Amino acid sequence: MDCLPNNSDNKTLKSLSSDRRLDSMDLKSNHTALVLADPAPLNKSTLRVSSGLLPYSGATLSQNLFLTVPTMKAGILDIRASNCLDSMESSSPPDKKSRDFNNDLESTDTDVAYCAWLLKYPSALASFDQITNPAKGKRIALFLDYDGTLSPIVDNPDCAFMSNDMRAAVKNVAQFFPTAIISGRSRDKVYEFVGLSELNYAGSHGMDIMGPVRQSFDDHSNCIRSTDNQGKEVNLFQPASEFLPMIDEVFNSLINNTKDIRGAKVENNKFCVSVHYRNVDEKDWTVVAQRVHDVIRNYPRLRLTHGRKVVEVRPVINWDKGKAVTFLLESLGLSNCEDVLPIYVGDDQTDEDAFKVLREGNCGYGILVSSVPKESNAFFSLKDPQEVMEFLKSLVVWKKTSTLCNK
Ligand SMILES: [Mg+2]
Repeated sequence: MDCLPNNSDNKTLKSLSSDRRLDSMDLKSNHTALVLADPAPLNKSTLRVSSGLLPYSGATLSQNLFLTVPTMKAGILDIRASNCLDSMESSSPPDKKSRDFNNDLESTDTDVAYCAWLLKYPSALASFDQITNPAKGKRIALFLDYDGTLSPIVDNPDCAFMSNDMRAAVKNVAQFFPTAIISGRSRDKVYEFVGLSELNYAGSHGMDIMGPVRQSFDDHSNCIRSTDNQGKEVNLFQPASEFLPMIDEVFNSLINNTKDIRGAKVENNKFCVSVHYRNVDEKDWTVVAQRVHDVIRNYPRLRLTHGRKVVEVRPVINWDKGKAVTFLLESLGLSNCEDVLPIYVGDDQTDEDAFKVLREGNCGYGILVSSVPKESNAFFSLKDPQEVMEFLKSLVVWKKTSTLCNK
């Protein structure tokens, strides 16, 4: 079993309270924000499933099993940038390689904490029957995050390639189940990484969705007809399209403002901008927080969210990965949970919006990819992309077996 981070000399492993804090850390605007109504809300009455679908959740994790440690504070940061720094720290636990120096005693403690956490978020592999039993007679719809879910987190975000084995597993599973990738990357970039034309893609945290043509969406604002790479007619849904010039402007400002910070990398994800600090010395994280804040303080219609060693600048609109799941289910004709079981697999804070939609709709399962305990709206967990691949393969075997049995 992997060990949790050493808490003797660092500060970043937080638990439930810190995850909640992350949400509250987003810069708030008192300006009028563009708010889009959900074009295709899941009807709760169609989402209801029997209580037998709910996984075991009787065990709760004792607070003292989480490691909490003091956070570093910058001397000259203004308060909002300091909040940003807190979120950067709490969303970026130390890498596994830095945890390997833990001594045996601490490893034992952290193993206990991880095992206890698994009682609340059981492994999707160990609980495979609990997931597939309610899916009998239904179609499984699969939603997959990319970074940290299908690909390992790497130092250079431009090199977050998925393995050929993983690509084959995704291709295979998509033959049996409608499958969509929902990523914070630009849609073009994530398509470039995945390279499978049979999938549906949503980039920029769901703010750029390419899906099949549906007549019912023709009158939908922000939905336009386009063609995909194969020349097939598709619908493009881009609820933040009016923000494009602003995002480009902020991207250029962030490039300029962070160019002297060694290791900082700014990525234009079309409808959002990512500032990666994975390669920035930890003592300079305060500078990253301040520089990012210095730029976006001039843009009240933009906000910050936090991922694993990345700060993301996004439009303040009522749209997220959860809304994207709802939209895709509707546009794929899969919104009736009497017939469909959606499964969403992701590792990041932004994936919580999708987990929440499935949990609150009592429709389908979120699966959190994490090797450290953290509070989540997911029902199940997988430790790393390798386990995600095993889970995808298991789904294919299950489908083939159940099809044969029904013949
Ligand atoms: Mg991710």
